[in-house]
Amino acid sequence: MEEVLHYINGQRVRGASQRMSDIYNPALGQVIRQVPLGDKADLEAAVASAKAAFPAWSNMPVARRARHMFKLLDLLQENVDAFARIVSEEHGKVLDDAAGEIARGSEVVEFCCSMPQMIEGRYDSQIATGMDQFSLRKPLGVVAGITPFNFPIMIPLWMFPMAATCGNTFILKPSERDPSASLLLADLIKEAGIPDGVFNVLHGDKEAVDGLLTHPDVKAISFVGSTPIAQYVSSTGWANGKRVQALGGAKNHMIIMPDANMEQAADALLASAYGAAGERCMAISVAVPVGEETADKLIEAMVPRIEGLKIGPGTGEGVEMGPLVNQPAFDRVSGYIAKGVEEGAKLVLDGRGFQAPQGYEGGYFLGGSLFDNVTPDMSIYKDEIFGPVLSVVRADDYEQARDLATNHLYGNGVALFTQNGALARDFAENVEVGMLGINVPIPVPTAWHSFGGWKASIFGDLPMFGKDGLLFWTRQKNVMARYPNAQTAMGQFNFKRSSDI
Ligand code: NAD
Repeated sequence: MEEVLHYINGQRVRGASQRMSDIYNPALGQVIRQVPLGDKADLEAAVASAKAAFPAWSNMPVARRARHMFKLLDLLQENVDAFARIVSEEHGKVLDDAAGEIARGSEVVEFCCSMPQMIEGRYDSQIATGMDQFSLRKPLGVVAGITPFNFPIMIPLWMFPMAATCGNTFILKPSERDPSASLLLADLIKEAGIPDGVFNVLHGDKEAVDGLLTHPDVKAISFVGSTPIAQYVSSTGWANGKRVQALGGAKNHMIIMPDANMEQAADALLASAYGAAGERCMAISVAVPVGEETADKLIEAMVPRIEGLKIGPGTGEGVEMGPLVNQPAFDRVSGYIAKGVEEGAKLVLDGRGFQAPQGYEGGYFLGGSLFDNVTPDMSIYKDEIFGPVLSVVRADDYEQARDLATNHLYGNGVALFTQNGALARDFAENVEVGMLGINVPIPVPTAWHSFGGWKASIFGDLPMFGKDGLLFWTRQKNVMARYPNAQTAMGQFNFKRSSDI
């Protein structure tokens, strides 16, 4: 069976570890490849490669590092179809969605092309007599990114281009469920002329992650995944003296006011709740219509839309929703549907028992599910389900709806659909969530802003990419300089008095 290899010092290598993990095609439910799960020896090889590459790479003028990003940007655009096929095959998402992932990731590469300007320092002359001061941003050294299965190319592109253009050398630990896209990325990075060792791929599971979190030569960890693992990664990384940003799970609400355009809101809700089978950290999983009439209209608008979803393999013509990523995900989501019924929510549409298209009977397909009359005490409301299941929580008024989002454990994304500007302004000012959409369902910020939620959706102070990303991947150095031999119009300095400083 084909093996997906590690990528260390510019070479694909099998590594030392004997442990392997199966990679599935989720539309077929079949194992298509295997990936080695890196051990200590593999980790040491990846760290040694990145460490050896650091001095030359970090000393390369930033404009030259940025020029490599221009080249990488072109190569990514030329390879959109190849990426989309690999991602769809191992993840299950539809080709258009996979292509969109590359487009959003490429925005960060594009942003990095402006690094010479972004990384600017500050120079102040004559801060004391004959003394100047300047501060600059320096890279950290060997750094690592640990990424989830649901965006196998976009999220590595949130991390590597920023880290590398700032002068760091990088180890990617991709999800073991869909690791192949990381190797195509490695090939393009090499083709872009980026020296061997600047980008490395170490496959693995907890053993590889723990190795990165405790290795003295790894200076920073950027993580995206579920909240329990984000919490573990951040606390372990911090205990080992690393800089860590760890983005976690989500439960994103969409509030629909009585004055919203219901057709637009329902279309937006369909795409954001069921797109990528709900396996997005910015998916809407809770709809909060305000008032009984709005709620009834929303259910009426959603039912035919959900029933009309074209579900099948991600590579299929016109398919709108693919399978879940694997059997455990299928079982977890099915289990939550059963739990919602037990807890007393009204199951309006049940996606279990969906008949997969011919030839794909073994795939992990679920139809779209819709719950009405969900209440905040139910587990289907509290927990991240990460599947094509939408919960409708009816609210009496705007304040109750806003406070639901504010009081939820997670604070990644939230949307409000209304035509009332004053209400929208109150929402933007007061709701306690990190990324807001006003008549926009999935408000993923562009690369020159930064991406990150609040509360249990992030551990660490600095979100991804943008100016915050630059701060995360660099540290400040401050220099105060005085030149005793320098002559001024006033003659030689006198350094005898402390007041000269
Ligand atoms: P996950 O937490 O299971 O895995 C993420 C990474 O951690 C993987 O590389 C995995 O190998 C590693 N890992 C898993 N278990 C580990 C353990 N016990 N110890 C150390 N490392 C471990 O997440 P996932 O299922 O791959 O991805 C889905 C989750 O990611 C969802 O919760 C989703 O909301 C979240 N997510 C968040 C964002 C965001 O920006 N906030 C973006 C995408 C996905």
